[in-house]
Amino acid sequence: MTDSTSSSTAIRQRHIIVPYGTRPEIIKLAPVVRALRAGGHRVTTVNTGQHSQTAMSGDLSLALGLDATVTNVLGLDRSLRLGQIVSDALRIVTERRPDLVLALGDTDTVPAYALAAKRSSVPFVHLEAGLRSFNQRSAEELNRKIGSASASLHLAPTQRSRTFLRSEGISDERIRVVGNSVIDALVTTGLGPLQTAERSGVLVTAHRATNVDDPERLARFLNLVNDLAGSIGPVIFPVHPRTAQRMAQFLPEFRVHDDVTLSPPLGYLSFIDHLRRSLLVVTDSGGLQEEASYFGVPLVVLRGSTSRWESVENGSLQLASLHDDQSAHKALESARELTSDESLRNISSIPCPYGDGHTGEKVASLLADPALDPYLILEEPSFLDGEVPW
Ligand code: UDP
Repeated sequence: MTDSTSSSTAIRQRHIIVPYGTRPEIIKLAPVVRALRAGGHRVTTVNTGQHSQTAMSGDLSLALGLDATVTNVLGLDRSLRLGQIVSDALRIVTERRPDLVLALGDTDTVPAYALAAKRSSVPFVHLEAGLRSFNQRSAEELNRKIGSASASLHLAPTQRSRTFLRSEGISDERIRVVGNSVIDALVTTGLGPLQTAERSGVLVTAHRATNVDDPERLARFLNLVNDLAGSIGPVIFPVHPRTAQRMAQFLPEFRVHDDVTLSPPLGYLSFIDHLRRSLLVVTDSGGLQEEASYFGVPLVVLRGSTSRWESVENGSLQLASLHDDQSAHKALESARELTSDESLRNISSIPCPYGDGHTGEKVASLLADPALDPYLILEEPSFLDGEVPW
C-alpha cells in the first residue's frame, strides 16, 4: 500500500485495478476512475475487450476519457471468451499486485476479476452491489452473486440493494450505500430533465437474448415498436449490434412504420439527449432504467423481472413481456397508461432514487479512509477455541 505519510491515520492512496469491458461499464466507471485519481489513488484501468466494436466502446472511451492502461484483445471464438478474460485477469492481477481490485455490476468481468483477486490474495470491492432480479436464467444475476460472494466491501447504490445483501448474510459493516455512478455520468453531461410539454415520442432499445434471439419474440417486439409509433408518437430506435444481426437473420423483409427511426448505436451524449426529450422509454436495458428515472421519464421494461425495484415501487416502471401476443398487447397498454397526462405529470416530479451524482467522490474518499483497512485484510479466521460459527 502506498500511504501518503507513514502515520497509520493518514489517508490512504491505494493502487486499484479497475477492469471494464462493455459500454455500460465505461459510462459508469469513467466518473469513478476520475474521482479516484483526483483523490490521489493510483488506478490501473484494464479494458477486457468484451465490447470490441468502436460504436460500443472505442468512441465512448474517447468521449468519456476512460483510457485503458492495459487493453486485452479477445479472440473471435465466443465460447472461449470467458476463459480468456479469466486468464488475462489472473495474469494482470498477479503481475501488477494492486492493493485492491474494484469491478462494477454484472458482466463477465466481475467473476473473472473476483476470482483473480482471490487467487492473488488481493481484496475485491464490488461496485453497484446488491441488485437482484431473482431470475434464475440470468447470467448477470450469477455474476453479481459471485461479486457478492467474493467482495470484502460492497458498494451498494440504494438502501434496497443493501437490504438484499443483508438478506444473503452479508454483514452490514461491509456494506456502504454510495448511489449509482450512472447518475454522476448524467450530471457531468450538464443535460437536465425537460418539462413534459418539451418532450415527445418514444425511445426504444433491446438486446437481451430472451427478446431478440427468438424469431417470434423479435417479430412481436418489432410489431410493438410499430404500434408505439402509431399510438404514442415518433420512435427513435438505436439498434444494438446483436439485435441488428438477428433482424437481418430472421426478419430481413420486416417493414418499420414511417415514424420509426432506426440507427446504429448512438454516441452517449446524443443518446441521453434523445432520452430526456422522450415521453417514454421501452427497453430491456439495465442502466437505462436509472437514466430514465433521472430525467423523470417513465419506462416499459420488456422483461419479466428487473433489478431496479425502486422504479417499480414509485410507479415509473412497468414490466412487460413478449412471451405471447396478449403480453405484447399489455406492453402497449402499459405504454399508453404511462404516457397519460396525469402519469407524465406525476412521474416527472418523483425524485430519482439512484444517487445524487457524487458516487465517484464517495467511493474515492471511502477507499482513502484508514478505518477501512481492517475490512481489506484477507485472513483465515480463528476457531481454535472450539466454537462453531452458528
Ligand atoms: N447507450 C448509448 N447509446 C445507445 C444506447 C445506449 O450510449 O445507442 C448507453 C445508455 O445511455 C446506457 C448504456 O448505454 O448508459 C446501456 O447499455 P446497455 O443497454 O448496452 O447495457 P445494460 O445497461 O443493459 O447492461
